[in-house]
This record gives sequence, C-alpha cells and structure tokens, in this order.
Amino acid sequence: MEDEQLIQEAYAKLIVAIRPKMDNKDRFNIQSAFELAKEAHKFQRRKSGEPYITHPIAVALICAKEIELGPTAIIAALLHDVVEDTPVTLEDLREKFGNKIATIVDGLTKLDADKNSESPQAENFRKVLRTLLVDVRVVLIKIADRLHNMRTLGAMPPHKQQKIAAETKFVYIPLAHRLGIYNIKSELEDLFLKITDREAYNEISRKLNETKKDRESYIKHFIQPIDQAVKELGIPYEIKGRPKSIFSIHNKMLGKEVTFEEIFDLFAIRIIIDVPVEIEKIKCWRIYSTVTDFYSPITERLRDWITNPKANGYESLHTTVIGPNGRYVEVQIRSKRMNDIAEKGFAAHWKYKGVKANHDNVYERWLETVRETIESSDHSALEFLSDFKSNLYSEEIHVFTPTGDLKILPLGATALDFAFSIHSEIGITCATIKVNNRLVPFSYLLNSGDRVTVTTSKHRKPNKDWLSFVVTSKAKTRIRAALRESKSQQADFGKEALLRKLSNFKVDLESNVDQLARHFGFDNRMEFYVAIAENKIDLSELKDLPIIDRKFDLKKKTDKSEAVKVSPKSKQDFGSLGNSQIIIDGQSGDKFAYSLAPCCNPVLGDEIFAYVSPGGMKIHRTHCPNAENLQASLANNIHKAEWGRSSTSLYYTDLVITGVDKGVGVIEAISSTISSSLGLNIRSFSIDGHDGFFEGKLRLIVNNNNQLAKAILALKKIDGIKNVIRES
Ligand code: MN
Repeated sequence: MEDEQLIQEAYAKLIVAIRPKMDNKDRFNIQSAFELAKEAHKFQRRKSGEPYITHPIAVALICAKEIELGPTAIIAALLHDVVEDTPVTLEDLREKFGNKIATIVDGLTKLDADKNSESPQAENFRKVLRTLLVDVRVVLIKIADRLHNMRTLGAMPPHKQQKIAAETKFVYIPLAHRLGIYNIKSELEDLFLKITDREAYNEISRKLNETKKDRESYIKHFIQPIDQAVKELGIPYEIKGRPKSIFSIHNKMLGKEVTFEEIFDLFAIRIIIDVPVEIEKIKCWRIYSTVTDFYSPITERLRDWITNPKANGYESLHTTVIGPNGRYVEVQIRSKRMNDIAEKGFAAHWKYKGVKANHDNVYERWLETVRETIESSDHSALEFLSDFKSNLYSEEIHVFTPTGDLKILPLGATALDFAFSIHSEIGITCATIKVNNRLVPFSYLLNSGDRVTVTTSKHRKPNKDWLSFVVTSKAKTRIRAALRESKSQQADFGKEALLRKLSNFKVDLESNVDQLARHFGFDNRMEFYVAIAENKIDLSELKDLPIIDRKFDLKKKTDKSEAVKVSPKSKQDFGSLGNSQIIIDGQSGDKFAYSLAPCCNPVLGDEIFAYVSPGGMKIHRTHCPNAENLQASLANNIHKAEWGRSSTSLYYTDLVITGVDKGVGVIEAISSTISSSLGLNIRSFSIDGHDGFFEGKLRLIVNNNNQLAKAILALKKIDGIKNVIRES
C-alpha cells in the first residue's frame, strides 16, 4: 500500500534522527505515540492529499533535528493534533503517557472556538504562553508545527495562505527571534516573503543563484590568508561562508532603496572556534586581531555581543572588513557554544545549563516578563497580545541606576519605563526623572549608557496619557491597573452621590439604577457612576421625573425628549460632531452602524479601515497602533473604508504637546495660536508641568486632516515647544 510505505519511510527517518538520544523506554513510548496518532488520524488527509500522520511526523522531525529536542518533545509532537482533531482525549493520553505529555499536548490544543471571544487567535495564543511557563517545549513544538505548515502552504487556497502568513509574521517570527532560534526564524521570514511577495522572492533567489559561483570564489580567496594564520594559532576552528537570507536582502533593498547589485554587504563569513568557555572571549578577540591583520576593519561596524549579549542570549563578535577589490565582508567570530545558542536559542540554553556564562538568566529574566504579563490577565486577550508582542521583537538598550546596576530595556523605552522596571510602586508614584543629571520629561527616549535617577512622591498618580508613550508591558499593565483602581474609586463616589439623591425621592438604588444609566446614555452602571462623580450629569433633572411604585417612570419621558438622552455632557467626547460619510467596501456605509474608533480618532482625510467587532463597526486610522494587531489576528473582520465626498463633519482630535516651560506663558501662546491665528476651537486643554518641563494634552475640533497638519506645524513653531504629536 502506497500510503503505508510513505508513512513508514517518514517514521524511519525520524527514528534515525533521534537514535542517539533514546533509551529502550523512550523507543517504546515513541513507537506507541506514533501508533496511537496514526490510528487516530487514519481517516484524515492533508490538503496536499497525503495521509495526515505525515504532518505530526514532520513536526517531530523538526523538533529532533532542527531544534534538537529530546524524546518527551518528540512524543508530544507526534500527538500534538490528536486531542484537537480526533476522538482521543487528554485523559487517554495522561493514562498512557503520563502527566507531562498530557500537559504539553493540552498546551498545543486549541481552545474551543468561543463565539463571545473578541479574538479566538489571541485567546489561543495566550493559552500557549500560559503553558510556556509550565513547560517551554510547548512553544518550541508550536513553532515547529508552524514551520511545517508554512513549508507546505502551497496546497491551501490563496486567502488562507495570506492569513497564515500574516499570523506567522505577527506572532511566530518574533517569538522565534525572542527564543533565539535563528535558523527557523530566518526560514519563516523567507517563507513569509515567498507567500506575500512571490515576485520579489523569485527575483532575489534567481540573482543569488546567478552570482553564487562568483561569490563562492571570492569568499574562498578572502578566507585563504586568514585560514592559514588561524591554523598557526593552534585553536580548533571552522570557517564558513554564509549567504544572507532572501528576506534580509529584500529588507535591505526596501530600507535603503537600493537594487540587488548595490547591496554592499552580501558577503559574510563565520569563524567558529572550539575552546573551553573560560577562554572563549579572549580567543575570539585573538581571532579578530588575526583577521584585521589582513583586512582593515570598519570600526563603526564592530559589535561586541560577547561582553554584552543580546536579550535573547545571542553572543558573538561581529566586524565588517574591506576585502580584496574593496568589497565589504562581514565577519562573525564566536565559539561553538555561542553558535549553538545563536542557532538553536532557547533549546541550546538547556544544553549549556550550569555553564557560567554571560547569557545566564537571560531566559529566566524573559520568562519573568512573560509571567508578569500573563498574571495581570484581567485585560483582554488582544491587549495582552499587543503588550506581549512589544516585548518580543525589540532590540535592547542598556541603562544604569545611580548605583551602577545594569537594566536592560527594549529599544524605544522611555524614562518612565525605567521607573517601572525598578519597581511598579516607583513607576506609579514617580515624580521626577533625571537622565545623566538632567531633568527630562517622562516620555524621554532612553539611550544605551544613560544613567537614570528617579524620585517619587506619594501624591503622584498615574495618568492616562502615560499609556501613550510607555512601551514595556510591565509599565502598561501597572498603569492600566492603577487607572482601573482610580476609576472604581470614582465609581464609588458616584454611587454614594446617587444614593444620597435617591433617598430624597424615597426610591431605592437597585430597582432604578440600570434604567437611569440607560436614560442618561450609558451602557453600564460603572460608566454612569463615574460620570456622576465627574459632575458630567445633572442629577437635578431627576426631580422632573414621575415616580410610580417607587420607581422612576422613564418610558414616557425618553419617548418625548430625545434631547435628554444625548445631552452632550452625558456622551463620551470622541468621534465626530455631524455627518461623516464613509464608504465601506465600495458601498455607502449608511447601512452599517459604524462609529469612529476612540483609540485613534480618525479625521476626514486620514487613511482608514473598518473593523467589525461584537459591539459594531469601528473606523480606525490605518496608522492606529491597534491596526497591525487587528489585521493579523482578525483579518476576516477587516473591511476597506474611505471617506465619502460630502462629509461635512467636525472631528475631535487629541494632541500631546511637550516642551520646556520658560515661564513666559506657554499656555497663553498655545491657545492664541489655535484660536486667533488658526481660528480653531479647543475642546479641552490640560497641562502637567514638573521641574521646568511640561506635557499638555489638547483636544481640538477640526474639519479635516489638512487643518490638523497646519495646526501641528504652527504649534511646533512656538518657542519652548519641543514636540507635538497626534495621540496614538
Ligand atoms: Mn499541527
């Protein structure tokens, strides 16, 4: 039977790959996992027509060969789809293979699609990560699963290919990067490009092929003298030419707007030495010295990731030198251990556990961040995903406390992120921040080498604007929690006030509050209470309402007076003030109940898209920070949107203004620029100054984005103003 032969061959290949790592018991368990999975999937086929079991076998093979995981992971990989796709249950697996395997497979099993969930993908991802804390192999197997699916995506219909590719780019590539599995990360990137831009992919791979011979002979010529000299040092070594990935070449062409022929650093070699860990640093520098005896280095391109490893554990010494004919060649120098960690990342980390080296704790530290993000799990899965993601990809900066302790933060981290990284309490009560002895605004962008001093004050409270510039998930999570807390305090005040009022009318709270909330235009009690506390609602109105049976009779009242319901005070202050017409998927948007998204406040002229959520259709700016997130995880709910020609609305828009307060009335200058010179209306304006710096938030009413751009330009010209940005 043809199928059977195919299956047996694939399985035999797997066994060969793991043979050195198995004892008899492992062999028995792997065999029975294979047989169970084969039986369970026997009626299924892949889209390509192959028997389904070839997929779990291939995933197990990737785990074994490319990530070098052991027997437990192989068994779990073989079983990874049985619970989700077949009648086999977790209990069956627990009985047969024990708790460990059952836990891992559980982590790999998708949650039942929950219709109430905002994003099933995000929920699933959160589940995977929760299991990651129990056993890291879950994520490694998940990545192997994704790699095999990406390799075999050709059999899927094109729109599915696009969706899977987007999800891969959004979550799995950053994850592979963060876990340091370089080879898989770069294959996933190439596959992503192949699916999303086939033409560019083919073009570059054709050119790489055409130039292959030339490049190889150049590299051979380049290596020759080095090879000789290193040999004389008596250190065991290996030198390899290293082609750059198609994806990275493509990125370079886009970023620098150059053609393939103009990319100067297509050449790269790697020198790997085999020495004990205690002397690897000094020997790597010895090799560096040898290389630069022959070719002059470009000093600005020297990167010493041995002294300061990257946050994903990467260690290596990089330099670029000028080779024969003036061509640039990148040279990477590292030990065998460093190379293992660079290629297999997290997985290799376990292999070298106990080896005292620089990268100690990098994963523990990262896992700690993951744990913190997950444990503050009261925020939505989508918020979680975007916080988590911001911690995945970023390169890092090294900054110091006043006592010289090193803190590693993601690139783009602000002074306030630093405060939160020391302790969340310090972040929450942060009063001033100094960088290198100079006072800076909280939103100050940190650079490597900065020395940061924070002072606190009990009276400080977090403010919503902070969320617009912090980047670490720790800071975001803690700020949100603190804001929620102060909101619930506010709500308590509001509830008190309402209770007092209601007691005047001799009616009780429970039987009236929900109706009243609705009457004043709120979806829930909480919002209603907060609005009362903030004096946004005029409770004296209550005295005009008829009371029947100790309950306000609101029906008649609301029927005849729309005005009460939409009094501008009681509605949230965002969106537009009139009729904006939006065209959705080429048709008039009137038949959809759409509204402008409060996260990015689009104004006429902005590039926009429509997103359908359980709460209705929302219009977002294409540059909304939520956009990439939504497009990757909820691609099906995204629709094309554009502005109709006859939009005659006014739009709210928020600007964040930062600057130095020179004591000459910046507020004065801002308001006169807006009102007198530009003739625009200011809806609200708040300013928060400390130690000579200020941050202001300005809510403007504009007709379109043209007007907005003019306003920003004019504000930037005011003396003392450093920056004006549109919020979110
Ligand atoms: Mn699978």
